[in-house]
Amino acid sequence: MEIDLMDKILSLAKRRGFVFPGSEIYGGLQNSWDFGPLGVELKRNIKAAWWDRFIRRRPDMVGLDASILMNTKVWEASGHLKKFSDPLVECVKCHKRFRGDRIKTEDGCPECGGKLGEAKQFNMMLKTRLGATEDKASEVYFRPETAQGIFVNFKNIMDTERMSLPFGVGQIGKAFRNEITPGNFIFRTREFEQMEIEYFIPVPEKDKDWNNYFEYWRKEMLEWISSLGVDVKKEIRELEVPEKDRAHYSKRTVDFEYAFPFGEEELYGLAYRGDFDLKNHGETSGADLKYKDPVSGEEFYPHVIEPTFGVERSILAAMCSAYTEESAPTAEKGEEETRVVMKFPKWLAPVKAAVLPLSKKEELSSVAKKLADDLRNDLFVDYDETQSIGKRYRRQDEIGTPYCVTIDFDSLEDKKATIRDRDTMKQERVAIAEIKSYLLERFKEQ
Ligand code: ATP
Repeated sequence: MEIDLMDKILSLAKRRGFVFPGSEIYGGLQNSWDFGPLGVELKRNIKAAWWDRFIRRRPDMVGLDASILMNTKVWEASGHLKKFSDPLVECVKCHKRFRGDRIKTEDGCPECGGKLGEAKQFNMMLKTRLGATEDKASEVYFRPETAQGIFVNFKNIMDTERMSLPFGVGQIGKAFRNEITPGNFIFRTREFEQMEIEYFIPVPEKDKDWNNYFEYWRKEMLEWISSLGVDVKKEIRELEVPEKDRAHYSKRTVDFEYAFPFGEEELYGLAYRGDFDLKNHGETSGADLKYKDPVSGEEFYPHVIEPTFGVERSILAAMCSAYTEESAPTAEKGEEETRVVMKFPKWLAPVKAAVLPLSKKEELSSVAKKLADDLRNDLFVDYDETQSIGKRYRRQDEIGTPYCVTIDFDSLEDKKATIRDRDTMKQERVAIAEIKSYLLERFKEQ
């Protein structure tokens, strides 16, 4: 993949209403982004599919939605206030700042070639104040990960949910990090969303005990990645994080790196965290965060495997994998042209079907609108009667709509419409009365 692809995706995202620059009319705000009418559908589809797959359909999982702002003691106990930092280096000449672990510091400043100062640890916690006072005690932090909300609610969940080990708790929500160098579109931002699971397991006696669970989640994560339309064999590299780069309590961490146009970078992570979190919170807060074995009555801190997924990085990877340019005949003249098509998996496509009357004439549009209204009860449908049919197909291809349904003058006679498949571009005549079941059947198939 080439860097040029990033520009193409960025421009498509803006032009078609997937992602807009944040606060654009005021000049933007440091790599913040807003999800437009189609982007929000992509995002909702991803979060809903994740929740369904990992929470709703599993007897061993429950969900949670904890507050973004938490007691500062949470971040003291978790180690974030002391250790959640990246090395910051500043150019002595142009004063630009960089992450020391992401540039070759020996080469000098990447911007002006000037000398770089000593690396300092820069804490990434984003701070704000609660209430009307301006003193230190009113300071709180936006959570930098959703995980801690799960650990601090462990007792509440145990008291209410009759879970027995192994079991997991999942959460989707915003996280904030004061990144030194946000960038690469929605890849690295200061406000983003995570989908995280803390999967609690019995105290392992041998490495193999926790590693079996780890391997299980590794496969689950790969299957999920593949469901986004990513070619796991070609586009994903699993990086075993070496001991020196792992948190001290982690015996194994795997980063799933995706071949983004700007290089192979972390898409998701999987970590074995031992009993570090529950033990720390239990000991610091004094709350009983131990698990009581229902059979033996033994009490202990469970260990935990943490699969973590970024929502925006899921969207970016899905968009990069879906982006396709291919040569195709034009709808009007039969000449060849390059068509851009987002080959999203059907479940992920923001718009499922587009209803397109061949002309704006009332006799066609009334039939088409009636069909669109009926489909809308079950599917997210676009209705479009502007421009030539060729331009309308191009728009639907660019946003990845799996099916276009065209109502033409013959439809008035034979009560049929033409359904065009996004990927094969094959067209089929289907009775209008059967279009809904035709489409629903195809969305069920995937
Ligand atoms: P990186 O090395 O890229 O900074 P990380 O190792 O700090 O990432 P984790 O702490 O493992 O990331 O966070 C879990 C997941 O949250 C990541 O795999 C990624 O999908 C997502 N994520 C982390 N930081 C950001 C960010 N600044 N913007 C968007 N998504 C992020």
